[in-house]
Amino acid sequence: MPLDIVPSVCPHDCPSACALEVERIDGNRIGRIRGPASQTYTHGVVCAKVARYAERQHHPDRLSQPLRRIGDKGVGRAAFAPISWDAALDEVAEQLTRSVQRYGSETAWPHFYGGTMGLVQRDGLQRLRHEMRYSRQHSTICSALTDAGWHAGCGFKRGGDGREMAKSDVIVVWGGNPVSTQVNAMTHITIARKARGAKLIVIDPYRTASAAAADLHLAPLPGTDGALACAVMHVLFKEDYADRAYLARHTDDPLGLEAHLATRGPAWAAPITGLDVDEIVDFARLYGRNRRSFIRLGYGFSRSRNGAAQVFAVTCLPAVTGAWQYEGGGALLSNHDLFPLDRTLIEGLDVLDPATRILDQSRIGPILAGDRRDLGDGPPVTALFVQNTNPMVVAPESGLVRQGFARDDLFVCVHEQFMTETAAMADIVLPATTFLEHDDFYTAGGHTYLQLSRAILPPHAECRSNHDVICGLAHRLGARHPGFELNPIQLIDHTLRASGLPAVSDFPSDGWLDCCPPFETSHFMDGFGHADKRFHFRADWAALGHDHSRLGTFPDHFPVTDDGDPQRPFRLVAAPSRSFLNTSFNNIPSGIAREGRPTALVHPEVLAGLGLGDGDRLRIGNRRGSVVVHARGFDGLQTRVVVVEGLWPNHAFEEGIGINLLTSADPGLPCGGAVFHDSSVWLSPA
Ligand code: SF4
Repeated sequence: MPLDIVPSVCPHDCPSACALEVERIDGNRIGRIRGPASQTYTHGVVCAKVARYAERQHHPDRLSQPLRRIGDKGVGRAAFAPISWDAALDEVAEQLTRSVQRYGSETAWPHFYGGTMGLVQRDGLQRLRHEMRYSRQHSTICSALTDAGWHAGCGFKRGGDGREMAKSDVIVVWGGNPVSTQVNAMTHITIARKARGAKLIVIDPYRTASAAAADLHLAPLPGTDGALACAVMHVLFKEDYADRAYLARHTDDPLGLEAHLATRGPAWAAPITGLDVDEIVDFARLYGRNRRSFIRLGYGFSRSRNGAAQVFAVTCLPAVTGAWQYEGGGALLSNHDLFPLDRTLIEGLDVLDPATRILDQSRIGPILAGDRRDLGDGPPVTALFVQNTNPMVVAPESGLVRQGFARDDLFVCVHEQFMTETAAMADIVLPATTFLEHDDFYTAGGHTYLQLSRAILPPHAECRSNHDVICGLAHRLGARHPGFELNPIQLIDHTLRASGLPAVSDFPSDGWLDCCPPFETSHFMDGFGHADKRFHFRADWAALGHDHSRLGTFPDHFPVTDDGDPQRPFRLVAAPSRSFLNTSFNNIPSGIAREGRPTALVHPEVLAGLGLGDGDRLRIGNRRGSVVVHARGFDGLQTRVVVVEGLWPNHAFEEGIGINLLTSADPGLPCGGAVFHDSSVWLSPA
């Protein structure tokens, strides 16, 4: 059987953005996927779910033709009938036009996110939005809180080179679980542990697979990482681990910070975090003794009302020790802004009308329910066009999301690869290509490569790419922009040239352009991103968002979280599982088999107190509702914490709605951001 190996790039919403080698069979099917050894971040490793991508690519449930709903919302495939592409696009254009004629252009809301991270296929919807003056999207569901926190201190959204972890003596994984969710980080950490005897420290509210593999695991209560970071810095100053020469040269107010931290030592942080004083001191000393210390920040600890402030507090650590001066030292949250891309053509930034209203993506539930805090004096949302996301499952407060999608006066079109629970609520469903079937290019959070990826398979059945669908709609709607007249490779080529980067014809033949800046720049030795070029211990929250009054200037613990009450004593952490990635893989048989069923990790003492044992049914609830899961006793967390890994489809839960029924759509401070790990709940036998 003819088989060749072809290059590609993983499109999923994961910092690793792995380079891929895909076994292609007969030009139509794929076999195994591997990571090329020569791409120095991927380093020959991809995660199991993408190694088995054939299961997803050739899944029998792939959507194959446009569909019009003829039955009830929420039923699924049986409620739809096939239609032609022309009929489908005509109807979408007509419904958008009709809504706009009645309510104005802001009634239409293109809604998208990271189902693909390719810039052409993901962000092209912005071009249609801007051209048509549809409501804009405040993209808050993932990185708004981390970005605000990182910006407050560093001023740029870039950090160290992830490959440098291999040269570190201490690696702190803070709020992430790379063993399950970003396996390549573990590759570089493992190299450091083997070659240098490096220590791995994991900070996470429960003993994840990464924490289990670590030399030291600290499990603070959710929403208290800022207190932990302050106490660590207190020790760094007190025990002379602070690099005062570096502080004087590269930071804004080290004396002010030291004075502020004087009352925020381990004894202060212990009752807030639930950690022992000795744990905090031991961690601080291990971190302080080793200047080649690298903090790999994850997103988990940002998903809290005080998440931006927590991220900010953690970014202060390498500035206190001066770890940025050393190879293998510093920190990394994301390198997405490392790439100097001119996004005008792809996103239609030249036609963006700043007066157009912006709606918070994470508040799709309240928005569709007509909440005036979001809609202001503007029209209701009566037309939704959805690509690359599944808000019926992934958005917080999913009871309101469901209620909103059920509205009779809401027209919904979903362009998807599968009949997701969001697609099942749509009026028109359009079948989408996968990354193997379209061209695109990719930045990365975890590394420094800009990667180009070409289609290696023909589209499945009648599937069309996001770009094709957007252009097809644009032509019907009368939207005129040069970006609608180009194919994806031409769009990429124009964008690269406008950005001062090698054009497609000059791009490295392996598809990987390493944009890593020199040491002086990547380590901020030539200046941080603020006007004064210094790291800021004094955060200017007002510059980052309007809701800043409850945040103080210096890093601190800001008790603005949902910390519960006697009726809701437990803190819920809705964490990612190993086999799913948001909802992208939660219909894959091998992943479902590995994950089992929706399960709550509960401290054994708590479980016994409820009169329950392993496998028993447990009801978790708060004022937003309740869900039933199966319980598992687990001693790798504090007694106040309960963890449900996912994201499982709603239908995997007994009562047909999933864990985000319990999470809040409140915006994090100061500029929004989903607070998935900031909900207090009660537990009872089901
Ligand atoms: S580790 Fe992340 S980027 Fe790499 S293959 Fe898996 S999902 Fe894709």
